Parts: sequence; C-alpha cells; structure tokens
Amino acid sequence: MQELPDEHATRAFGARLAATCPLRGLVFLQGDLGAGKTTLVRAFLRALGHVGPVKSPTYTLVEPYEIGGRRILHFDLYRLADPEELEYLGVREDMDDATLNLVEWPSQGDGWLPVPDLVLSLSASGEGRRLELSSGTDAGREWVARILE
Ligand code: ADP
Ligand code: MG
Repeated sequence: MQELPDEHATRAFGARLAATCPLRGLVFLQGDLGAGKTTLVRAFLRALGHVGPVKSPTYTLVEPYEIGGRRILHFDLYRLADPEELEYLGVREDMDDATLNLVEWPSQGDGWLPVPDLVLSLSASGEGRRLELSSGTDAGREWVARILE
C-alpha cells in the first residue's frame, strides 16, 4: 500500500510503473470516477516515450498507442453495457495482439477478461489517494518486486 498525497505522486508512480514494465502485460486499474486511473496511465505512457495527448477512452472504449515498437492498448470499460460485448468486439484478440494492456473499470468486463498481471486499486485518502498493488501472475509478482525495490 502506498500513499499518493497529490497528483504529482500519482504521476511519479506512473513513471515508476513504466521504468519497471515487462515487455508484455495486463494491468487492471480499479477505483471510483476521479480516483486517478487515467492520470496514472497518462504518466505511464509519457514515461515510456509517448509524445502528444492521451485521451480518456471513456467513449471510444479503447485508445491504441505505438511506443518504441510496443503496441499498447488503454481501455476504459465504464460504458460497457454488457461484458459479453467484449466477445463480439474482439477485445480478447486485440489484447493478445498488443504487448501491453491497461484496463480501467475491469469489473465491467467480469468473467470476460484474462487474469491480470497487476491490479492497481486507487481510493480516496484525505486530499490525496491510496494505492494498493496486487498481482495475479508470476510476471506480476516480479513486476511488483521491481516497483517496490
Ligand atoms: P479516473 O480516470 O480514475 O476517473 P482521472 O485521472 O481522470 O480519474 O482524474 C483524477 C483527478 O484526481 C484529476 O483531477 C487529478 O488531478 C486528481 N488526482 C490524481 N491523483 C491525485 C492524488 N494522488 N491526490 C489528489 N488528486 C489527484
Ligand atoms: Mg479514467
């Protein structure tokens, strides 16, 4: 568990995530609206070398990025009406083709998403945020160890 007292701390964590990132991975970002999920992803993508805007995929469901030979998909499933939609949208295939997948509101895709390597849960803590890390795979456990080093 980590305290992120301000937005700067959230962005610093995003950069740490990028610095320790494996070549492939699936990351779930949990937390209420305004918890800082997109802020974290934005900092992560910038730290990997993305130049330019990072739009929230709230309406598009997914925004793709090509960064340094990596194909990265940033999902926001908030507006997904039914997790089954992931099936006919071909989301699993898209995820397999990408090297790295970051998913906001993974609970909306319950039962239709693969096991995540890393789960980041953001919650309110005073004026700031609290971050909890957990891992669902060996790759994720190694990633967490690198983050906490
Ligand atoms: P989400 O994608 O989870 O809905 P956003 O990243 O779009 O949230 O928005 C988060 C908001 O909270 C932004 O206004 C950002 O400035 C602010 N914020 C991010 N991290 C922190 C933090 N650690 N402490 C306080 N405010 C934060
Ligand atoms: Mg968001």
